[in-house]
Amino acid sequence: MENQTSNFIKDIMIKDLESGKHETIVTRFPPEPNGYLHIGHAKSIIINFGLADDFNGKTHLRFDDTNPLKEDIEYVNSIKEDVKWLGFEWDDLFFASNYFEEMFKRAVLLIKKGLAYVDDLSADEIREYRGTLTEPGKDSPYRDRSIEENLELFEKMRGGVYDNGQKVLRAKIDMKSPNINLRDPVIYRIAHATHHNTGDKWCIYPMYAFAHPLEDAIEGVTHSICTIEFEDQRPLYNWVVEQCEMESTPQQIEFGRLNVTNTVMSKRKLKQLVDEGFVDGWDDPRMPTISGMRRKGFTPESIRDFVRETGVSKGSGAVDSQMLEHFVREDLKLKVPRTMGIIKPLKVVITNYPEGQIELLDAEINPENPDMGMRKIPFSREIYIEQDDFMENPPNKYFRLFPGNEVRLKHAYFIKCEEIIKDAKGEVVELHCTYDPETKSGTGFTGRKVKGTIHWVEAAHAVPAEFRLYEPLILDKTGEENDEGKTFLDHVNPQSLEVLQGFVEPNMKESRPQDKFQFFRHGYFNVDPKHTTVDKLVFNRIVSLKSSFKI
Ligand code: ATP
Ligand code: MG
Ligand code: MG
Repeated sequence: MENQTSNFIKDIMIKDLESGKHETIVTRFPPEPNGYLHIGHAKSIIINFGLADDFNGKTHLRFDDTNPLKEDIEYVNSIKEDVKWLGFEWDDLFFASNYFEEMFKRAVLLIKKGLAYVDDLSADEIREYRGTLTEPGKDSPYRDRSIEENLELFEKMRGGVYDNGQKVLRAKIDMKSPNINLRDPVIYRIAHATHHNTGDKWCIYPMYAFAHPLEDAIEGVTHSICTIEFEDQRPLYNWVVEQCEMESTPQQIEFGRLNVTNTVMSKRKLKQLVDEGFVDGWDDPRMPTISGMRRKGFTPESIRDFVRETGVSKGSGAVDSQMLEHFVREDLKLKVPRTMGIIKPLKVVITNYPEGQIELLDAEINPENPDMGMRKIPFSREIYIEQDDFMENPPNKYFRLFPGNEVRLKHAYFIKCEEIIKDAKGEVVELHCTYDPETKSGTGFTGRKVKGTIHWVEAAHAVPAEFRLYEPLILDKTGEENDEGKTFLDHVNPQSLEVLQGFVEPNMKESRPQDKFQFFRHGYFNVDPKHTTVDKLVFNRIVSLKSSFKI
């Protein structure tokens, strides 16, 4: 099966193979290990791996680790885990930091060709000299240093003679270019910092705009697919490949970023949410990270289906987060067992049911997938129902339990509410009901009808469980800063998590972390791998059952 239906990147690849420009397709997924992957990265992964696979080509996983200040081996490991979990296998694994020596040589080559110089201006001065969209830039007073002097200074930069920020190496292109990216971009900076891979070997590090094209060329990447904000950097990308005399000439192609409503999609912001304690880690189920979504209960299939549905184009509008939910419902519908769980328990005593008696009722595991078979659920004199399924003074058209009303207990009997027990504060703490043995489910009883069916769990055998219900983490529709000077942190939903203590059916006792279920009427849930213990099951709600969203 094709991974990627026709799109403009695929068309370029077809043309390049037909014209003989390339014999095979090589792509790469190049994360910087400065955070955990998010759903936006999933799009890049799916495009890069999917397209190469459609042509029997290759995809590299390359850690773009050229900034020691922000990178960490923890991130490297999580990225590998997430790519695999999403269902992709890289043909080769590379670290950009393994090319530092090669990159240094290419920088020296630029100096020797008179195309790079060491600049003593400060970062602020460089910014000032760069000009604006309407104003041309100004040459640095150090721009005309001799090749010999530049070579010597660059070696000294490498040798650790200077402090951070004291000097940089800049490409010598054109300070008057209408494209600001070409106004002598900085290509090396000094950073006395320990690198997760190269340790203290280097104290100068290449900048992204210089390093990335070299990495692609060194690896023989044919199509370097990146997000649209790099469009203006393409001339610089091509300049670097050409002037550094790289043998292989990769082509940069941009596509529109994936954005999803009610969340933020930037590692910097996600890190802030973690560091400032808004969430309990990168894998908090409210995070749009792959690890957070996995912990919440999303499946790789649902993420892949969602991303494919968003297509490949140059535009980057925000996709409705409900579309993501649609795909996980679709994926889980036939796969996972259905069961009953009570998230806000209210005790019900069935006064005419014999004391001490317990019966096992038959229930389908998944009525939409009969192959999953049947389960047994105990029933006895005492059960729990949802507090929300009872009202003392119901409005019109309330068909659940209220004094004198009869409802069906799913898979069991009709019960009728006879008496309300309240505590000293007047809160309803227990209901006394009667049942009708004639009405047992599956017996074909047609004597009378009830309008409401509610779920329940037998009290003596019920397994205590914690339910974690989630609301969007970000309330603003796009989650971006607005013009009132607010930041995205002002849009964090203070009520994005509700924790409730309830009960589940006894046959759920053996559930393992990451097991998924549909709880009747409540939606799809995942057994939380972090908080679940041998004594307590913790369920994350993945998604409720219904949505108005249509593809
Ligand atoms: P962020 O802005 O979240 O920090 P990034 O682009 O800096 O993301 P990288 O580690 O450089 O993160 O990303 C690896 C690859 O994933 C890049 O090719 C990048 O373009 C792509 N990518 C990142 N975010 C998205 C997104 N929202 N949609 C599609 N692709 C993305
Ligand atoms: Mg990046
Ligand atoms: Mg970034």
